[in-house]
Amino acid sequence: MILIDGKAVSEKIQEQIREEVARRKAEGRRIPHLAAVLVGNDGASETYVGSKVRTCERIGFHSTLIRLPETISEAELLAQVHSLNENPDIDGYIVQLPLPKHINAEKITYAISPEKDVDGFHPANVGKLALGLPTFIPATPFGIVQLLAHYGIATEGKHCVVVGRSNIVGMPMGLLMSRNAYPGNCTVTITHSRTPNLAEETRRADILIAALGRPEFIKADMVKEGAVVIDVGITRVPDASKKSGYSIKGDVAFDEVAPKCSYITPVPGGVGPMTIASLLKNTLLACGEE
Ligand code: NDP
Repeated sequence: MILIDGKAVSEKIQEQIREEVARRKAEGRRIPHLAAVLVGNDGASETYVGSKVRTCERIGFHSTLIRLPETISEAELLAQVHSLNENPDIDGYIVQLPLPKHINAEKITYAISPEKDVDGFHPANVGKLALGLPTFIPATPFGIVQLLAHYGIATEGKHCVVVGRSNIVGMPMGLLMSRNAYPGNCTVTITHSRTPNLAEETRRADILIAALGRPEFIKADMVKEGAVVIDVGITRVPDASKKSGYSIKGDVAFDEVAPKCSYITPVPGGVGPMTIASLLKNTLLACGEE
């Protein structure tokens, strides 16, 4: 069994991007500029956005954090989005989700210029992904294909089962694994909460991607001997032995599943660290060759 080290791969990609930025600087070319919009004071969102902005600074990107109050109206947030669309200094930006309940997140996502949508959530970019055209690939699925490629994991002709069909993970993951490219060329089964006999489906997987958000849901008897298992889940579960009072669990019961696998991602340290590498790659793409 090989443990997939997402932290190491992410650091390697960040280092390559840092070198590319240094080259651009030396040649007097444009330096990518990422903006992040944070609405309200949600603790987890603050952590995610803070870490994205700090990483941008470390690798030499320009970055701007726009903090807006929880009470901002939808119209005011839309005005901010339009102003970012029109700002020639900004190459790409993200609006951190979730947004407060009084704001329609879909409306905001759809207002982001597809050329600056480095999260890859705009329907125009999802459409391009479905058609196999170059586009911004959503960070988590993009991170997973980069991990598969880094480890040279064979995908052609394999049966890939994805558990979960969300717009940010399961659905784009299925599109990527079935496209005519590497990693890809899999026969893909997408499963969800209405799938009967889920274990029968997962047991047929050469590559199993668990993205359902149920801690340790995938047990050893649901996995084929020799499978590649990618665990996307991140759930905080109460844990009195931890100073924080919780521990992070994936969707896979790691200890019992790992011995059956050819490759497996740990949680934490697997898929999670790749998200930032994907976002940086998308921002570089948004900046173009200028
Ligand atoms: P969602 O809640 O949006 O989607 C979950 C999906 O899993 C749904 O399609 C749902 O089915 C399906 N599902 C739920 N329960 C079951 C079940 N018992 N059997 C089969 N399918 C089920 O979650 P996300 O896709 O946003 O995230 C999934 C997990 O990945 C979460 O733990 C999240 O925290 C984590 N995550 C991790 C990231 C990372 O960087 N590592 C990034 C993004 C997410 P249905 O559609 O029928 O409701």
